[in-house]
Amino acid sequence: MKMSPAMRKAQENMQPGVITAEGFLGSEEHSLRDIIVRDEGEMQRLGLEFDETAVLLKHLVEEGRKGLGEPVTVDGKWLVQTWEARGHLACPFEDGIFRKITAEIENKSKNIKIIVTDLAIHLMETHHFLEGTGSSFRLDPEKMKKVLKD
Ligand SMILES: [Zn+2]
Repeated sequence: MKMSPAMRKAQENMQPGVITAEGFLGSEEHSLRDIIVRDEGEMQRLGLEFDETAVLLKHLVEEGRKGLGEPVTVDGKWLVQTWEARGHLACPFEDGIFRKITAEIENKSKNIKIIVTDLAIHLMETHHFLEGTGSSFRLDPEKMKKVLKD
């Protein structure tokens, strides 16, 4: 599928060593556009809304930050631990910079965890991009559903 110049530039910025050492595409051989289209379909199939999921993740991260690095129980259901590093990361779509905040969110009754970052939440909410399969920070829809939904 043909990509816009902006989409092509974003895909270049996602290569290893441009913004982060690992990059954002993992081991994907698909184009950025095809990854986004595939994951939009996957989210829809699982009944996950991008906006709603981003709002919940932001809430969990902000509550988790109150633990100042120690794990915090949020809403009785999740255990959230956050790490913050100095500096910022640019969005590969070149529309903002984000704090280096990483959170581990565990569904306490299921013992399943996901790792989210401020940038990953923005990529999901604004660009419908969940990072490539094999990327350390990919927000896998199946796993998100298990951690976030009953
Ligand atoms: Zn962006």
